[in-house]
Amino acid sequence: MLNRKLYLITLAVLAVLSLYFSYQIYTDASRLQVVFLDVGQGDSILIQKGTRQILIDGGPSGKVELAKLGKYLPYFDREIDVVIATHPDKDHIAGLVEAARNYRIGKVLTTAAGKDTQVYKEWKDILDYNKIETLEALRGDRISFEGAEIKILNPEAPVDPAIGEANNESVVARLDYGENSFLFTGDIESPAENKIIASGEDIDVDVLKVAHHGSKYSTSGVFLDKVTPKDAVISVGKNNSYGHPTQVVLEALKERNIDILRTDEKGDIIFKCGNQNAKCQFITQK
Ligand SMILES: [Zn+2]
Repeated sequence: MLNRKLYLITLAVLAVLSLYFSYQIYTDASRLQVVFLDVGQGDSILIQKGTRQILIDGGPSGKVELAKLGKYLPYFDREIDVVIATHPDKDHIAGLVEAARNYRIGKVLTTAAGKDTQVYKEWKDILDYNKIETLEALRGDRISFEGAEIKILNPEAPVDPAIGEANNESVVARLDYGENSFLFTGDIESPAENKIIASGEDIDVDVLKVAHHGSKYSTSGVFLDKVTPKDAVISVGKNNSYGHPTQVVLEALKERNIDILRTDEKGDIIFKCGNQNAKCQFITQK
């Protein structure tokens, strides 16, 4: 009799546990999450829904990037659907090399801008070696992603591979998910900001990834008055040698009552978007 009772209790406990875990998996899969990874002085942003991911840039270190991806991707998920490489600077692509060595990448969206550096050569080599489909990003391109949509706003024309300094040719993308919107700006400076404004594209969003780690050459008042974000995320390393973010950008954000979220202060900055009709909530994680 006792055995039978124990058996029934065990069954009941198992049933409750399995319901609980299915619920967890279900809620995680139905939630869109945008994570500004704390990768030090550089950019890396992971957009994920369930087992699908878009990764924008990979930060300056392969080791750090792999640790971060391991933290947010389920252990069984070895695939990243789309990688957007905004421009060929080390603080954006070094981590992508290691990501490409360790994950299957569906496709890469980038520009032709090249750079005569070891890390850029490694990046090109791994794309060739793994035969990863590489598409040229141009204004107007769209990616549909699990109920969300990404629209490319920059560059406006194909980029010359020999352009040299390519900050202003960075891939700029807008993400819309129901009531929520984000603008990812790579390292563009005012010339590109002005071109995007002149194009008439809608850049009014909730969350702005501040361009070029808060450099004084980006994030003009005119640009901010078009974007009117609630939150501004600055992806930046502690005590970096560039003096990023600059005082002038911090002041411009404060004057407009925009909340400043810095990866050097807060660690990973995670926007959890439960459904299209609700505003994303953010949490931070060191
Ligand atoms: Zn950068």
